[in-house]
Amino acid sequence: MHKINFGGIVPFSTIDWRGKAAMVIFLGGCPFRCVYCQNYNLLEGSNYVEICEIEEEIKKNKAFIDAVVISGGEPFMQPRAVAAIAKYAKTHSLLVAVQTNGFYTTVIESMLRRNLIDKIFLDIKAPLSDEEQYDRIAEASGVARQVKNTLAICSDAKIGLELVTTVFKHIAGVEAVKGIAKDLEDAGVANCPYVIQQGRVELIPDNIIKEEDVFSLEELKELAALAYVHLNDVRIRTRDGGEEVIYF
Ligand code: SF4
Repeated sequence: MHKINFGGIVPFSTIDWRGKAAMVIFLGGCPFRCVYCQNYNLLEGSNYVEICEIEEEIKKNKAFIDAVVISGGEPFMQPRAVAAIAKYAKTHSLLVAVQTNGFYTTVIESMLRRNLIDKIFLDIKAPLSDEEQYDRIAEASGVARQVKNTLAICSDAKIGLELVTTVFKHIAGVEAVKGIAKDLEDAGVANCPYVIQQGRVELIPDNIIKEEDVFSLEELKELAALAYVHLNDVRIRTRDGGEEVIYF
């Protein structure tokens, strides 16, 4: 029986996939070490469980949910786990989405070819044209090229696609959002929903990032206006207000 490095489950969420009631399954492990990671407890170590335990949870909740969202960590670090969960969810007529940093391009391509995924939430952490900045934020190397390829594959596939940038003033701030929006327009995905997500300091250990680095609601709206110069569907997500469509 296949085992999964398992991080946890949120049995019912209406915020991870807008308009859907979803169960969120967190998988452990990630090749990145983003300084603002809110799930750092999933990055190291392991907690292996049998796939049948996850299947049981899905079965228990299937009457109350429309979808399963697989999150992490980086889910595609465990391709067999993602495939197994997706197949099981689909046998119960549930939709499947994955929240990903986009690093494992060939794995994602293969899963999309097998029609295992209905929607991808793809992190865009920095301008795709700025490889150095991207690597610095992710604390990994060769990231921007991988994400760019993943973006192209997802945008060609017949699936839902949403792009998400987590922002902090001194990490991914005004200039980053401007650069990202321009790069996304150049990549031909100007119509794809783009969510500017307010970074949260309370989940980051050791006060590495200060409260002053968090954008206020008004500042996020200004960021959205900058993104809208290039993109057609810009949203913001805040810890207090959830997701708002700012420009459409
Ligand atoms: S990609 Fe996501 S899970 Fe991985 S380190 Fe960065 S924020 Fe954390």
